[in-house]
Amino acid sequence: MAKIRVLNPIVELDGDEMTRIIWAMIKERLILPFLDVDLKYFDLGVRKRDETDDRITAEAGHAIRHFGVGVKCATITPDAERVSEYRLKKEWPSPNGQIRSILDGTVFRKPIIVRTITPAVRSWKKPIIIGRHAYGDIYRGVELKVDRPGKVELVYTPTEGPERRVLVHDFSGPGVVMGMHNLEKSIRSFARACIAYALSERIDLWFSMKDTISKQYHAFFRTVFSEEAAARKADFDGAGVAYRYMLIDDAAAQMMKSAGNMLWAVSNYDGDVFSDVVAAGFGSLGMMTSVLVSPDGQFEFEAAHGTVRRHYYEHLKGRPTSTNSVASIFAWTGGIKKRGELDGTPEVVAFGERLEAAVIGCIEAGIVTKDLVPLMEPRPTGYQTTEGFIAAVEDRLTAA
Ligand code: NAP
Ligand code: MG
Repeated sequence: MAKIRVLNPIVELDGDEMTRIIWAMIKERLILPFLDVDLKYFDLGVRKRDETDDRITAEAGHAIRHFGVGVKCATITPDAERVSEYRLKKEWPSPNGQIRSILDGTVFRKPIIVRTITPAVRSWKKPIIIGRHAYGDIYRGVELKVDRPGKVELVYTPTEGPERRVLVHDFSGPGVVMGMHNLEKSIRSFARACIAYALSERIDLWFSMKDTISKQYHAFFRTVFSEEAAARKADFDGAGVAYRYMLIDDAAAQMMKSAGNMLWAVSNYDGDVFSDVVAAGFGSLGMMTSVLVSPDGQFEFEAAHGTVRRHYYEHLKGRPTSTNSVASIFAWTGGIKKRGELDGTPEVVAFGERLEAAVIGCIEAGIVTKDLVPLMEPRPTGYQTTEGFIAAVEDRLTAA
């Protein structure tokens, strides 16, 4: 069969450990035999990042800006333990964080839904997608320990005009304080990325803060979001989807009772917490994808999980593994379908859909990795190895 030609390049970001092994298998067996595609390859494995003093990460981020579509394998974010394990020069920063700031992007996590896997929350029938604002708040906070009585104030010194101060607290004993900030530009980009994603997927958009308590900080987020949504009202009406603002606690309760099928946009910390709640509720980390969307319409697709370190050590000992490759395969198909959509090549989009159907077909037929067995109804009697699952998908894809 002739290979399908992909018009424009896809940026490929390689990664670490077990996911690096899976990544190579997917590329060799499920992608390259079927597509004639120009992959702009960047090795973001931790050794290469170390060797290049991490320049490779910035280069990869800029390549995604340039070409518009990237697919990324999971990577190690080194801590002290990893520095000695891999003999690194230093604790290089998170590649995802760096690429996020290059693209000024928002991360959306989306579960892969399969008929034979019942979510822990029975009402959930369709994906719940979390849009997490990825700038500021406590993640860029400054903190102080107060160890004796004294006054703590916020002081704003504008480049022009009078100074302003507010009392944080007049301490009579020890305590703690924190100062945090956010930027209108970043909140607006976040709102636009969320609106673009909800409209392109034709799903409702929820946005939640706690503006009844935080009448300046949280209220500002709400105002910016409402302005951006109002500017796209005709598009919302045209797509038949709604924008709703809800208080975060109300939204959390509604989310637990809903059938899903919405994008829930939340602040940085809420997104940190609720993306893990939703991931756990839908079943396995191996079934959760993630896409970084920039306000200018660039996309980077990846699995939401890490490098599956424990399985990698088993693999290094020569033992068989049963690591779920579904989210990594969907990172590839997400990138391929988006490339086809942007290039106006429906045959490329159709290939992405065929590969996804082959994966779902395997799972529905009970051909799964070990992590999925306890989630399945009916429960399969055995499970596949890492390689066995990919081979089964390959068989289906070739037969299709
Ligand atoms: P992890 O890779 O997310 O895996 C944690 C555990 O979750 C695994 O041990 C496994 O449980 C289960 N799991 C995750 N993905 C699975 C899959 N595809 N198939 C089957 N089981 C799966 O987290 P980690 O092992 O703690 O972290 C390893 C490295 O990943 C860290 O260095 C971290 O920096 C990095 N990380 C990268 C990203 C990213 O690049 N996006 C995200 C998160 C973490 P069992 O052991 O019970 O089988
Ligand atoms: Mg988290």
